[in-house]
Amino acid sequence: MVDNKKAKQPARRYYRKRVELFRLIDKIKLWPSRRGLLHGIKTVDIIGGQARITTHCNKTFLINDSRNSRAARWLRNKWFSGICGVCRVPDWKLAKYSSTQFKRHYGSALVDGSKVQSSEVQGSKD
Ligand SMILES: [Zn+2]
Repeated sequence: MVDNKKAKQPARRYYRKRVELFRLIDKIKLWPSRRGLLHGIKTVDIIGGQARITTHCNKTFLINDSRNSRAARWLRNKWFSGICGVCRVPDWKLAKYSSTQFKRHYGSALVDGSKVQSSEVQGSKD
């Protein structure tokens, strides 16, 4: 039995540029450290207005839900200089990440139940 689909590139997925940071990291499970290393996220615990992130290399820290934070920008721009050797983010996850696009007026905002596919959505005020 050969599964031809396995070798294929992952589907392109689109997220809103202004997607909430917590939703985004909960979805993609990657974290760019200040030193530019990409870590795999093991758990995200939302506590009030903050989230406690635990990486696979067992670093734990609190973050704020800011779309404008360094990490949010780095994630959207896919800036990283290397992969954490302890987390060992799998290739399929990196491929999925690199095929992810962030658009201003198109894509999912990762809000439960909303699947915005159209670029015709009105009401954007920024
Ligand atoms: Zn790590």
